[in-house]
Amino acid sequence: MSVFHAGFEPGHPPVRVRIGVGIRHEIGAEMTAMGLSRALVLTTPGQAARGEEVRSILGALAFGLFNRATMHTPVEITEAALVAASGADCLIAIGGGSTIGLAKAIALRTDLPQIVLPTTYAGSEATPVLGQTASGIKETLRSPKVQPEVILYDPELVATLPVKLSVASALNAMAHAVEALYARDRTPLSDQLAIGGIRAFKRGLLRVISDPGDLVARQDTQFGAWLCGTVLAQVGMSLHHKLCHTLGGSFNLPHAETHAILLPHSAAYNAEAASEALAPVVEIFGGSVGGGLYDFAASLGAPLALRSLGIVERELDLAADLAVRNPYWNPRPIERDAIRALLQRAWAGERPE
Ligand code: NAD
Repeated sequence: MSVFHAGFEPGHPPVRVRIGVGIRHEIGAEMTAMGLSRALVLTTPGQAARGEEVRSILGALAFGLFNRATMHTPVEITEAALVAASGADCLIAIGGGSTIGLAKAIALRTDLPQIVLPTTYAGSEATPVLGQTASGIKETLRSPKVQPEVILYDPELVATLPVKLSVASALNAMAHAVEALYARDRTPLSDQLAIGGIRAFKRGLLRVISDPGDLVARQDTQFGAWLCGTVLAQVGMSLHHKLCHTLGGSFNLPHAETHAILLPHSAAYNAEAASEALAPVVEIFGGSVGGGLYDFAASLGAPLALRSLGIVERELDLAADLAVRNPYWNPRPIERDAIRALLQRAWAGERPE
């Protein structure tokens, strides 16, 4: 394939990105530069203290604080937040994918500008994609309205993320990059973003584990999160994301941990069909595609077995049935029995060959 092939359209809306220790103290300056003066601060109940800190940094620029962001962006919460946002002229989201999802859901309905301060590695801040849930059904949509205008990566914010969650969240981010490598609409730019993102996590994660407060290592991993989130915005996802959406949506399994456990198995499933595309993964981790990723996850102390997340063995049949329904494009055909076998290995925590 030629490097510049037909359909390679690297253009995307401009996003202002700043990274650095203490950069959160610049939120007010960012708002003023954009002509904004009434911010609604968003966060989760668990990060309410962070929300208060942002409110005090903002001083008179703070319009209010809404701290009820919830996983999977339920519309009832969005509706309550819309009431709180009435009269605000911008949104400040401080949190992970759940909080950023809430900011996106409000922006979709109001077009309010968003300044986001990620506290996990999930990568939602870098995408024009929103997943939201109504009556228990999650829908995913893409709109330029939901892409945050400004991202502030402050390593001090992610340094409070417990090690276990840091590892799972990082593997969640790396899963975007691994699937981007074999995406049908991959480009030379997306390949470089994906490889750079994986390498940044490989470089930073072991240091984060040995010293969670190492802000240089945290900054390296945030760089990885930015690259992996950016590549997620550029190309389509395949089997791995379908499996995670199925297990998260229908069995209520936690988002980051499910990604972490399934990644070696879904990559192994595609290893032969996408051997050339996945060569960088082998180069970075050694061994086979699935084996190398599994060994890396194990070395980080990541969860390795779906059974540890509470799903029981007899539910795997239904999970396989649901996962093969309306499949996303995938380099290897989606075969129900092979998917059932994949889920069995992931459930037991076996190393994929
Ligand atoms: P999360 O935002 O749900 O956070 C998980 C928990 O960790 C929460 O209780 C939160 O309060 C806490 N937490 C977060 N950061 C912390 C920190 N630094 N210190 C202490 N506690 C902290 O988790 P997530 O994995 O970032 O996001 C998952 C959600 O994001 C899912 O709904 C997923 O679908 C969505 N997502 C969307 C996209 C997209 O492009 N639209 C991309 C990735 C993830």
